[in-house]
Amino acid sequence: MNTFAKLDNRYIFTGTLMSTEAMHIGSGEGDVRSDSTFVKSNGNFHIPGSSLRGVFRSTVERIVASLGDHTCLLSPNDQEKCITISRDTQEKYKEKVGKGEKDLDLVKWLSEKNRLCKTCNVFGSTHYASKVRIADLPLININSQAIQPEGIIRTGNFIDRDTETASDGALFDFEVIEKGFQFQFEIIAENLEGDDFGILSLGLQELLIGNITIGARASVGLGKCQLNDDVSIQFFDNNDHKFTLKKYLEDDEMGVLPVGWIKGRVKEYLSGVFKMKG
Ligand SMILES: [Zn+2]
Repeated sequence: MNTFAKLDNRYIFTGTLMSTEAMHIGSGEGDVRSDSTFVKSNGNFHIPGSSLRGVFRSTVERIVASLGDHTCLLSPNDQEKCITISRDTQEKYKEKVGKGEKDLDLVKWLSEKNRLCKTCNVFGSTHYASKVRIADLPLININSQAIQPEGIIRTGNFIDRDTETASDGALFDFEVIEKGFQFQFEIIAENLEGDDFGILSLGLQELLIGNITIGARASVGLGKCQLNDDVSIQFFDNNDHKFTLKKYLEDDEMGVLPVGWIKGRVKEYLSGVFKMKG
């Protein structure tokens, strides 16, 4: 159970994410060159952590649902109890809050009887903090000088997603990052337990394979990216005899895991799911 009152473990994944296709994440604004500029922070290209977070989570949800495991947003079950979508659980939760129950007790209650599905248990819901934080991903400057790519403008019909037709036949220009650019990547996870490791690793594995697309027009192949396999995994975990929180605080020392650790957690999760199903 994750109460956030304790810090049982922390896992930090750092590396570089490369665009393997051109990518466009709209800033919501245009300029003289295009109708939609690539999102920037202080003038520098970056992928907002929230953009990666959204596709990372939905990628994991799709896999978990396909395996027949519990993820509420794609659950076919009317009896769904996860607080993210269950009115019944939300009402009961409100009652408890109204009675002044402590946060610790509320979290304990949520962790029981499927009131949180496996993906909400990792990525959070409106009533439950996420265990995973995805930092913004700044573009890595190729030279020490702040060199930025000139995003190339592509012109095309802007396709209406719902009707799959060009809206007004209008041409739409947008600024892209071309393929081959690298972004600094960091995911920090805390208080992982049980299946959380496998759930998180499913998303990491898809990133390593290069199956995740970020930003606009993914349906035409834009936004594909891949996590380089030199990803560094550092951790402390009070369940580990060597690299504990105490060791981390005393000696600034964290354990280091090989990238194969991710595959190991995926396999562990899968064997649990298929054992459960008999
Ligand atoms: Zn859920």
